[in-house]
Amino acid sequence: MIPNTFRSVIAKRLSGPVGSSQRLQWISIAALVIVLALMWLLTWQRLRAEAALLEKNAELQQRSLAAIIAENLAQVVDRSRLMAVTVDHSADEDQSSASARLTSMLASDRIFLRLALYDSALNRQSSSSPFADGPEIKAFLQRVGNSTDDLLATDADVQVGPLLKENAWQVPLLVSAPNGHPPQSGYLLAMLDLGYFLQLYRNIDMGTTGSIHILGLDGVEIAEARPEGLSLSQQPRRLPQFAPANSSEGLWRGVLPGHEGEQLARFQRVERAPFIVAVSRGMQEIHSNGSSLRVWGILGSLSFILAAAAWGLVRSTRRQQTLLEALHASDEEKRELIVHLESETTRAMTLASFDHLTGLHNRRMFNEIAASHLEGARRSRKHYMLMYLDLDRFKLINDTLGHHVGDKLLRAMSERLRSNVRSSDVVGRMGGDEFAVLITSLDRPEDMDALASKLVAQLSLPYLDIDGHEIKASPSVGIASFPRDGHDVTTLCRHADAAMYESKRMGRGRFTYYNASQNPTNDRILQLERQLPIAIDKDELVLHFQPKVDLADYRITGLEALVRWQHPDHGLVYPGDFIASAEKSGLIVQLGDWVMKACCIQQAQWKAQGIPRVPLAFNVSPRQLRDGSLATKIAQLLQDHDLSPGDLEIEITENCLVEPVDQAVKVLEDLRKLGIRIGLDDFGSGFSSLSQIRDLPISTVKIDRSFINDIRSHKDVGVIVTSIITLAHGLQMRVVAEGVELMDQLVQLKMAGCDEVQGYFLSRPVHSAEAEKLLVQATIVPT
Ligand code: C2E
Ligand code: MG
Ligand code: MG
Repeated sequence: MIPNTFRSVIAKRLSGPVGSSQRLQWISIAALVIVLALMWLLTWQRLRAEAALLEKNAELQQRSLAAIIAENLAQVVDRSRLMAVTVDHSADEDQSSASARLTSMLASDRIFLRLALYDSALNRQSSSSPFADGPEIKAFLQRVGNSTDDLLATDADVQVGPLLKENAWQVPLLVSAPNGHPPQSGYLLAMLDLGYFLQLYRNIDMGTTGSIHILGLDGVEIAEARPEGLSLSQQPRRLPQFAPANSSEGLWRGVLPGHEGEQLARFQRVERAPFIVAVSRGMQEIHSNGSSLRVWGILGSLSFILAAAAWGLVRSTRRQQTLLEALHASDEEKRELIVHLESETTRAMTLASFDHLTGLHNRRMFNEIAASHLEGARRSRKHYMLMYLDLDRFKLINDTLGHHVGDKLLRAMSERLRSNVRSSDVVGRMGGDEFAVLITSLDRPEDMDALASKLVAQLSLPYLDIDGHEIKASPSVGIASFPRDGHDVTTLCRHADAAMYESKRMGRGRFTYYNASQNPTNDRILQLERQLPIAIDKDELVLHFQPKVDLADYRITGLEALVRWQHPDHGLVYPGDFIASAEKSGLIVQLGDWVMKACCIQQAQWKAQGIPRVPLAFNVSPRQLRDGSLATKIAQLLQDHDLSPGDLEIEITENCLVEPVDQAVKVLEDLRKLGIRIGLDDFGSGFSSLSQIRDLPISTVKIDRSFINDIRSHKDVGVIVTSIITLAHGLQMRVVAEGVELMDQLVQLKMAGCDEVQGYFLSRPVHSAEAEKLLVQATIVPT
């Protein structure tokens, strides 16, 4: 049995966690998604603010740088102007001293590489370099010359020439010197070393994408300085975005030719000089100060870890769920198995406790229940009795009418038994045709008489239609009283059983109370048992002889020798009082030897007297048959008394044929070989059937006297006797009916085809002198 608490624990364990863990799982995942989304959102916002700040910083940085460069460039141009004025003051100098003067000026300012002085018609007057002007300078001067009026007329007193290709990074500045002695005004050509100028900013951190652009006012780029060095394009490019018409400075964002990605540029027009300075830097670099990448990296890793953890959680929850489901399934299976086991156990208990045929308690259960009743009985003033019932001649009914009839009879009998006792009484089938009833709580012991009589009467009523048969079967009942006849179930059963045998002995279909005198502990029985060995030695035993008569012609066919004990105190004692104990003690062998010898002496005597002889049968007990030397002994006796095997016959009972049967069968075979005829005594009172003995060397079957007793009164007994006779004849056996007391019985037996009869009706067992007379008379005709 499974305790209910255990069941509920299993149920809780199964129903609870599976559902709630699934809910918990979804809640955890949703919470995780929300947390991650918030984290990403906040980080994005923070990084956006950071990016804006970075941009702002970059912008400021670029603004200052552009302003510094513009100012420096303006100063450079201012210096060129100053030089122009200075040179112009000494215009009246000769050419060589002017050149020397220019050279010395040049030496004091490294930003210029060459200085040359031109008159107003742009003819070179003096130069710090002895070399003539190159074609590019000439072209520039030509161009300026063509627009001299404009140049001088305008505010733009400085003209910027093209970047010289042959001398990299040199930019010619043509500065007018108008403050001389008109019309002797002229021009100073200063070759600005833009490379040197820009190199001054090489230590400024512009990042890897930053660059400084120097442009003319028309937006044409003159030079660009990048961290890797200065660069200039072969074909000057225009960057109009840095030279808008409406503003002198500004911020620009866009893709610059020659650069990758978007750039942020600050441009500023140089005051007092025809230049525009622009400082640019890649947006990507501005933003990639590393922190955002790190933040995204950390956030990404964190998200990955959390997602992995969530995935792990989901997986483990799923696994747990799968395990729980498996556990659930296995628990379910177990539960079913337990239920199955319980039902099997109950079934097994039922099978183990009840007799499958009748539904009554079996022996084990009867003993248990009866024992518990007796426990209560010790404290009760009521009376308890144990009845043992045996169905008379059941074995034979089984053998002759079939087992299915026997089973049905047992069922009908047990139903009748159950319905004739109170529900408080305990009824059990002890095996075969034996039943036990514990009668509980009787007010007076005398009440048992009425109950037992009623039971015997009811159970003896014919059983109508048992598989088409009407069967009359009486019970033999023995009763033992608690606590007088026993304090426990075993003792009570044994004594009730003994009483039941007494009922059988007394003619069946009756009840008998256990009487201590049936018990071998009885003084007389004990005394006889003790005295028997001496009695044999003292020759106190005598033989009486009972004739068997052929039903065809009433001729005496044989005599049966029956032993008696001529006891000095108790008178003639019958074998019923000493054979059983002799059998038990083993003295039966000695007793049997005496009987055999006495039979031989008697036969030899009759032989010697010339009395007509018939086979003299004597009874042999199971122990004698197991002795093995029986045949040898008989052969010796025959020889000693000069008798032939036909002079003797032996009678065995079914008890001789119980296991181990081999030894008995061997002795029987030896006896047959010797020529001794063997009869099976009391047939029908025991367990054997004719089919069981068919292969044994048995020549005669003696039907038990209980059948003969009932042959007239019970129809089915007549059927049984007739069947036995028919079957025995089929096996070439003669049939003797014993215990014939009435003429009617004799007639019935004759009609049934019985061969011989034996019984008080023809002759009681008689002593030898009487037997002698009968032998002489040779026949006993019934009268
Ligand atoms: P059994 O061999 O079946 O002997 C027949 C018994 O039935 C005898 O009882 C006999 O007196 C009795 N009897 C014969 N005709 C009638 C009758 O018409 N009506 C009634 N009511 N009884 C009749 P007994 O002599 O008391 O012997 C009882 C049993 O003791 C014998 O039954 C036999 O089994 C055993 N027995 C007798 N003598 C010996 C013996 O020498 N050796 C052994 N081992 N057993 C013996
Ligand atoms: Mg006999
Ligand atoms: Mg007999």
